[in-house]
Amino acid sequence: RWSKVPLGPEDAILGVTVAYNHDPNPKKINLGVGAYRDDEGKPFVLESVRMAERILLEAENAMEYLPVAGDKTFVKNALKLAFGSECSAAPGFENFAGMQTLSGTGACRMGGELLARFYDAPDVYLPTPSWANHTPIFKDAGCTVKGYTYYDASTCGLDFKGMVADIEKMPPSSVVLLHACAHNPTGVDPSKAQWDQLSALMREKHLVPFFDMAYQGFTSGDADVDAYAPRKFLKDGHHMILAQSFSKNFGLYGHRVGCLSFACDSVAEAQAVESQLKILARPMYSNPPIHGVRVVNEILQEKTLESKWRLEMQGMAERITGMRMKLRSGLEARGSAKIWDHITSQNGMFCYSGLTPEQVGRLSTEWSVYLTKNGRISMAGVTSRSVEYLADAIHAVTK
Ligand code: PMP
Repeated sequence: RWSKVPLGPEDAILGVTVAYNHDPNPKKINLGVGAYRDDEGKPFVLESVRMAERILLEAENAMEYLPVAGDKTFVKNALKLAFGSECSAAPGFENFAGMQTLSGTGACRMGGELLARFYDAPDVYLPTPSWANHTPIFKDAGCTVKGYTYYDASTCGLDFKGMVADIEKMPPSSVVLLHACAHNPTGVDPSKAQWDQLSALMREKHLVPFFDMAYQGFTSGDADVDAYAPRKFLKDGHHMILAQSFSKNFGLYGHRVGCLSFACDSVAEAQAVESQLKILARPMYSNPPIHGVRVVNEILQEKTLESKWRLEMQGMAERITGMRMKLRSGLEARGSAKIWDHITSQNGMFCYSGLTPEQVGRLSTEWSVYLTKNGRISMAGVTSRSVEYLADAIHAVTK
């Protein structure tokens, strides 16, 4: 009966973990997963999240369905986190259409669905490269996916000139996906001055920014600093779209906490967009999960808990920065002839190492070090104990 269903390929990132799990070497390292690990290499639950959960347990809340667009208080809290609690460009956020989504993935997907259904120019331009899931998300939603220049392999940095040249050529009204901070997979972000320039250029060209903010806090350790780009674009008057994920910065991965919002011209426009988002969501999943947003609300509405969360967020970012420095100095100390500045100049969870697929292959077969073929290292998977071994391994395969 199901014989016409062909066997599909394994997801490239999940495939790395499968190979890692099969390796008996006790020194093996998994640098594929995009989830934060503590310095013991273990999954990390934030204490602020545990505290919020204890409060929720005591409160004995009902577990009724949320509305189709999710928890309104959560959406407000998410917008405040993104744009600042005293957002002068949008006091009260009345002109925003917003909905709770199945994390950042769901936010991107629902944004794509709305564009495909109602927007006259649903061409979505992605940076080259981008998070591997962006292409299928927007294609499956019904958008046409195109690319723009972003990464410069010769410097392991941003090709800003190329990026600007490509944006200048885009037809007006095109949608441009931008990683708000901690670009995945490259770890390369525009500077503040470059964001300012991009905002002005995109206004001039009548382009629509679609920010994907999956790592707010992971670049600088400060959620406000990391929100520079969306805040600047809002101030400059863009009709922007924002997808937020609470997977990494709150460590709520499996709870699927996210938010999608559209900056609209009026309350009436916002209501119309929101009504259509609900019509899209109802037959897809009816309504989103309740527990994770309660946790986020507890934290963001209680000063002590919020301060604790901010400190823990900073702690995660600092541990990653520390590992970047140790890995770079470890390679330099081994006399590597290569330049490794980009390990510390790139941001967020990932280091786009510049390792070739052949070198990545050798890392797994000779050293039991697993990462995706594109050479992306999840810095969150590096620990004080494994960093020297990793430097040995990378040095050996790049000699
Ligand atoms: N966008 C980017 C750029 C990501 O890296 C991720 C996580 N890998 C997401 C969105 C979405 O993650 P989630 O659905 O867990 O929020």
